[in-house]
Amino acid sequence: MAKNGRPKVAFFDFACCEGCQLTVIDALQTHLELVEVVEIVQFREAMTEKGEDYQIAFIEGSCTRPQDEERLNNIREQAAIVVALGACAHIGGVNALKNIQPSLQGVREYVYGEQWAWYDTYPARPISAVIQVDAVIPGCPIDRFEFLSIVKLLLLGKKPTLPDYPVCVECKLKENVCLFDKGGFCMGPVTRAGCDAICTSYGLGCLGCRGLISNPNQNAMKDVLLAAGLTAEEMMARMNLFNAYAPDEL
Ligand code: SF4
Ligand code: SF4
Ligand code: SF4
Repeated sequence: MAKNGRPKVAFFDFACCEGCQLTVIDALQTHLELVEVVEIVQFREAMTEKGEDYQIAFIEGSCTRPQDEERLNNIREQAAIVVALGACAHIGGVNALKNIQPSLQGVREYVYGEQWAWYDTYPARPISAVIQVDAVIPGCPIDRFEFLSIVKLLLLGKKPTLPDYPVCVECKLKENVCLFDKGGFCMGPVTRAGCDAICTSYGLGCLGCRGLISNPNQNAMKDVLLAAGLTAEEMMARMNLFNAYAPDEL
């Protein structure tokens, strides 16, 4: 805790595009009240200082290299509260697509070319596969209003909970015509709500960025996508885009 009584907060990034941190910066610009009640001591994307004394750690990105584990464990040791920020940290997200390619070495060479040996890599994992996580802010990128409400709950000492019903519920509440009825495709029936069905409300099929609900009927989802006209390959591409991580891969 800072001398002024404000909790010290740090942001960290692992394998990711850093878009969730950008959303945080964006949210802080319009909600200065949050900056006034915490002290941000480390946030590489927004400041040069690097304080190592913090109580709340927001971690963006996946664990994709052996050395990431030591860094994650150090953060866990320091922070009283660890928050997974965004799909890469929460569920592996798009990083886990490499896990389902025929060869990890092939992926390495495809991405890094002749310099592949310079870069360590192993199957991507969400941070909860390495350290205990106290709260999650899902999405790719995160929703700024969900970030603000979860941070406020944490500062009040409450444990945030996420909706455990599908995007379809929010989509229906918005009285959208289902995209399947308009010849489209959507992962809404198995995807965790909380984004207010933003994609489907703008005519885009949900791609599952908030992760799966607790008991998704994935077989029925596959059947629906195939019946709607996707090929098996296209169907699997949709199923896997954000949710390719499987815990028994390592
Ligand atoms: S969840 Fe999406 S926006 Fe956030 S860091 Fe990962 S790829 Fe970027
Ligand atoms: S468009 Fe998608 S989210 Fe909306 S009702 Fe249809 S399947 Fe569900
Ligand atoms: S509709 Fe689906 S893909 Fe779009 S933000 Fe919500 S969970 Fe993510």
